[in-house]
Amino acid sequence: MPYRAPTGEYEFIFQNLIKLDQIQGTEKFADVDGDTVSAILTEAGRMSEEVLYPTLRNGDLTPAVLENGKVRTSPGFAEAFQSMAEGGWISTAADPEYGGMGLPFTVTMAVNEMMASANLALQLNPLLTQGHIEALEAHATEEIKQTYLPKLNSGAWNGTMNLTEPQAGSDVGALATKATRNDDGSYAITGQKIFITWGDSDFAENVVHLVLARLSDGGKGTKGISLFVVPRHIPDENGEPGVANSLKVVSLEHKMGIHGSPTAVMQYDGATGWLVGEEHDGMKCMFTMMNNARLNVGGQGVGAAEGAYQHALAYALERKQGRTPLGEGTIVDHADVRRMLATMKAETFAARAIALETALAIDMGNATGTADWKARAAFLTPIAKSFGTDTGIKVADLGIQVHGGMGFIEETGAAQYARDVRITSIYEGTNGIQSMDLVARKLMDGGEAAYALIDEIESFAEDARGTRPNMAEAVWQATETLREATEWMVSQGNLNERFAGCVPFLNGFARVLGAHYHLKAACAEGSEGPRTKLARFYISRLLPEHAGAFAHAMQGAKGLYDLSIGDLSA
Ligand SMILES: Cc1cc2nc3c(=O)[nH]c(=O)nc-3n(C[C@H](O)[C@H](O)[C@H](O)COP(=O)(O)OP(=O)(O)OC[C@H]3O[C@@H](n4cnc5c(N)ncnc54)[C@H](O)[C@@H]3O)c2cc1C
Repeated sequence: MPYRAPTGEYEFIFQNLIKLDQIQGTEKFADVDGDTVSAILTEAGRMSEEVLYPTLRNGDLTPAVLENGKVRTSPGFAEAFQSMAEGGWISTAADPEYGGMGLPFTVTMAVNEMMASANLALQLNPLLTQGHIEALEAHATEEIKQTYLPKLNSGAWNGTMNLTEPQAGSDVGALATKATRNDDGSYAITGQKIFITWGDSDFAENVVHLVLARLSDGGKGTKGISLFVVPRHIPDENGEPGVANSLKVVSLEHKMGIHGSPTAVMQYDGATGWLVGEEHDGMKCMFTMMNNARLNVGGQGVGAAEGAYQHALAYALERKQGRTPLGEGTIVDHADVRRMLATMKAETFAARAIALETALAIDMGNATGTADWKARAAFLTPIAKSFGTDTGIKVADLGIQVHGGMGFIEETGAAQYARDVRITSIYEGTNGIQSMDLVARKLMDGGEAAYALIDEIESFAEDARGTRPNMAEAVWQATETLREATEWMVSQGNLNERFAGCVPFLNGFARVLGAHYHLKAACAEGSEGPRTKLARFYISRLLPEHAGAFAHAMQGAKGLYDLSIGDLSA
């Protein structure tokens, strides 16, 4: 079955939910009018449908392999990558001074989501390159920017992110890769990195690694780490790939999903690198890339959810099984199948709205420099990452269920969505780590950013009482519970009390946010149309989950540790 890019959904969300025209009111994005946005969505949507999507199964069935030290990518990936590059879809948000399109991140998120629906394993390549570009734009010297950014923006070169080592996963500060100063101002990098996505390919003229390493006088933990740009081939005097650097791909991982994405063990043997940012301040620079990638990984979850939903709906409209309450229809007329499909659609909509609102806050923060927008972007990012990816996993799993036994059979493709999206709740900071970030660092302002958002949801629900009384009342009540749970979190001095319930707290917060966007959609629709019916489904059947989530969130840590290792092993 074909994939259909949901361009109308983005347009609706831009116009009615997050008000993209706020961006157009800023000097930075004054030229980004509605027609430009529509044209971009149409073009990127067409490319995702016609060029990327046909390569989806190739990646699964013919994974990337390492042959004689070189990575051979899946059939059709090189050509599809070329189309992404030619369309400008790698550099959509990048600075025009270095060859980017300079568009808002909000629009980029929509483009990335469509590409992720069509082929998540391949889309991971530009996803990382985009974060890499943003980190160089923010922290590199002008010379590095001039050498690397035009090549990365055009897609001639690809960018990677090298944090993980066997003993340093979530605990990045435990890394052992070393950097030493060379006489010419460059550095020699030595060590091994694991799980490096798109560590190499057969279609990039050059692969540029952003590598975290420690100088001998760097302190322990994350504070003493520096960031280096380490190219596979060192650029010559014309800026073209020159001599090979002292680095190699040792092996590729065999994975549960995203088979088309080469996940490499990288060995650096005194490889030449150049400093990005200040010595010992690399984590700050890498966070620019990580924040970008975190939100985009949330978008991958939404993309996978959309693909899985379209697949399941098409199957449910064809498969006949038994008599349904509506007569001789297909399985779509069974109540439980309706429940699954409505859940898939409603959750995807909520996760998409949250992701786009987060991107909008980033754009507004960048365009206006306003602290409130920046705080909102920071607060929403872990929610968008975690809820987006959990939604992708949940929806893809429901997609298998809708297919019945055929969902377990690989030919239908339903299982591939579930396998591919599974990693998204793990990489770019596990969803557990995202939730800890939400209740610790993101509440360090005493809850100011959280309460600003809660006030907004509550005031919208109050206004909606006139037109959508039942739904508005349910959202208003849920917002009160959310406020109580937030107050509880803020009042816990011992962070482990917060951590014990951080995942259900994040989930509950996302539930209420999702209800807010569904209510907004219903109000924007006005009459009793599909958006209002979907909103009613979400608010009456899924929103009540928030109560359980917040009750769980406020239990504290004691009960977890009362359950001893012995008890767990009994
Ligand atoms: C396919 C794939 C692609 C990847 N791509 C890249 C890449 O391009 N670049 C890169 O650098 N890395 C990459 N990674 C690595 C990825 O980011 C890590 O796997 C991830 O950060 C988790 O680290 P870990 O695997 O060591 O798990 P661990 O850190 O060992 O975590 C195990 C469990 O413990 C929990 N945990 C750990 N620490 C804490 C804590 N302090 N508090 C509470 N819970 C905790 C985790 O949430 C998790 O549930 C990739 C991994 C995979 C599988």
